[in-house]
Amino acid sequence: MPEPSPRWQLDAHTQLAGVLGYPARHSLSPAMHNAAFRASGLNWVYLAFEVPPESLPQAIAGMRGLRIQGLNLTIPHKEAVMPQLDALTDAAQQIGAVNTLFWDGGRLVGDNTDAEGFLRALQEGGVEPVRQNVLILGAGGAARAVAYALHKQECRLWIANRTLERAEMLAQAFRATPIAMTPDALRPLIPQLDGVVNCTSLGMSPDTDSCPPMDWEALPDAAWACDLVYRPLHTRFLQDAAKRGVKTINGLGMLIHQGALAFERWTGQPAPVMVMRQAAMQALVSEGKNECPTNRILL
Ligand code: NAP
Repeated sequence: MPEPSPRWQLDAHTQLAGVLGYPARHSLSPAMHNAAFRASGLNWVYLAFEVPPESLPQAIAGMRGLRIQGLNLTIPHKEAVMPQLDALTDAAQQIGAVNTLFWDGGRLVGDNTDAEGFLRALQEGGVEPVRQNVLILGAGGAARAVAYALHKQECRLWIANRTLERAEMLAQAFRATPIAMTPDALRPLIPQLDGVVNCTSLGMSPDTDSCPPMDWEALPDAAWACDLVYRPLHTRFLQDAAKRGVKTINGLGMLIHQGALAFERWTGQPAPVMVMRQAAMQALVSEGKNECPTNRILL
């Protein structure tokens, strides 16, 4: 980790950014962004704010009143914040969720950097998902960002979910095919796939033995597998994919790149991605040592 810049200090010029969540105390974002501000020599600080749902309007009014430079939003605020903003980016509008707030002159804009963060993580892993056949497992908020990203890359998408109605709703929005998340329903599809993304919370600590049903042997040799879960980093899903010998991409890349994109929106400077990765890894490792008391994944 590079030494903190000597210019980094808190004083009357310090700019504020942060994350609003409930809970918010186990977010990796403060470690990631504060390391990035220091490495970039920016007099900024990033804090985590625990904001219950009923206090969200006051928190956003506070951002306007105090001219806080940028905020991230996590569970449960990603959708609820939308009516309180002046404008939405195309990604935020189509995904139906906001994870980043930034100022465009006097307008408070809601963006969603998860989709672009996911694509950058795939590219970093050596995957260019253009016009590919991809199976998305899950139909929650993360699956929606992934479906938006892959739809824009003209991929042919299948969406499998435990609750089929949610898969059907998501599939309709992105011209995908809904499918039940059962071994029988998935079996004929798997040999046609270029890639598969786990967007469910299956495998997340402490249920590290759980895994979506995949017939790994039927997956083509050149296929890739990505898991959005990053607690733990090496999920059972990715372990099984690695045993099969396909390319694997863990959830940390998306976390880092969605943060890097937010950093760039706020500061107008390129994000020090390596520094952010090291800070997030270090925070995850020390969490393991201290036995993180929550298993919620926060961004
Ligand atoms: P969400 O909106 O709550 O969706 C959860 C999804 O998991 C739903 O599809 C749900 O199916 C499915 N699911 C949950 N328990 C299941 C079970 N026992 N069996 C089968 N399916 C189950 O959550 P989300 O925000 O989309 O997040 C999903 C995962 O992605 C989380 O682990 C989160 O940490 C991770 N994530 C990572 C990043 C990153 O940057 N790497 C970003 C966002 C999210 P039903 O619809 O049937 O309930």
